[in-house]
Amino acid sequence: MMNIDQDRMQQVIQEAFDKTNSLRWQTAIAKAKQQLESNPYMHFDGDALLILSDSNTIYRANGTCQCRAYEKGFPCWHRAAARLVERYNEASREACGAEGEAACR
Ligand SMILES: [Zn+2]
Repeated sequence: MMNIDQDRMQQVIQEAFDKTNSLRWQTAIAKAKQQLESNPYMHFDGDALLILSDSNTIYRANGTCQCRAYEKGFPCWHRAAARLVERYNEASREACGAEGEAACR
């Protein structure tokens, strides 16, 4: 599991939820949230999020993915999770700049 500040992540997730009107994306975000909290096999390599899924497949998600949903042109939680982590990292950097050392996590 990744080392995540839950409050900050919760805020990022809420913003992502509010930004989309798509039920499919909201479902993807909800699944991504649950996986971010429970799946120990997720790793951000600086460019994409590597995810070992329940089906024992490793996905490498950023704007694209390798899963079936993506092939069919649907939102998938892998991409949602990748975007959340990316956004979370941005928020962390912003907090770090604005609030100083103590906020740098
Ligand atoms: Zn996917």
